[in-house]
Amino acid sequence: MDVLLIDLDDTLIPDAAARDQAMSSTLAAFAATTRLPDVWRVVRGEWQASGLRSTPALVGVSSWEALWTDFRAAVPDLTTQLAGDDYQARVWNRILPEEDSAVVGASFRGTREQLVRTFDWAPAALSSWARTHDLWCVTNGSSWLQRRKLQLAGLGPTFRDVVISGEVGAEKSELRFHDEVASRSARLGVQPVAVIGDSATSDGALASALQVRYVQVAAGTDPSSDFHPPSR
Ligand SMILES: [Mg+2]
Repeated sequence: MDVLLIDLDDTLIPDAAARDQAMSSTLAAFAATTRLPDVWRVVRGEWQASGLRSTPALVGVSSWEALWTDFRAAVPDLTTQLAGDDYQARVWNRILPEEDSAVVGASFRGTREQLVRTFDWAPAALSSWARTHDLWCVTNGSSWLQRRKLQLAGLGPTFRDVVISGEVGAEKSELRFHDEVASRSARLGVQPVAVIGDSATSDGALASALQVRYVQVAAGTDPSSDFHPPSR
């Protein structure tokens, strides 16, 4: 069986738009007028300062995704869990200093979770591709959050395999991730034939390392019109 490797965030489900919408709703709920670019600068700076990006289970997690991650569920050791909670509290204390960071954090997480859904084009295209190919999800993020999003979006049963940077301990653009995909394919006797995703630097790099076609997706846009999956 030939395999299509498919990215999740901003390919099948909204990422940047959902992030901005959830933050705008949260700011409005607490009557804050901070501009989004200023908010994301704080979020990025605190995530970098936390040092958590080098934790293997958190490899490939973006600063805004870390903001609604349940660190108690996402990482096993208490020190990292507390550091994750502390990162979120520092962000909310800087953005909404008058508010209880735990209350704001819960509000943001609730709003963000409600925005996890597939782009309109995705269910029909996935069903069509699945008739002739194995579908695997290849995604950067923590095991807990990426699997939670797959579940919330109703995509759980779609994929025969799911390869996540936080489980591999390497990002999609890295050799170790490429090797993981290649060795899983070899073990199952299947062959990847294309990578479908929105990011040239991660999805494109994976395609090029595996020497398969890269189908670049613009967030929200169905690639099916100019992409008919190759069969061998
Ligand atoms: Mg993506």
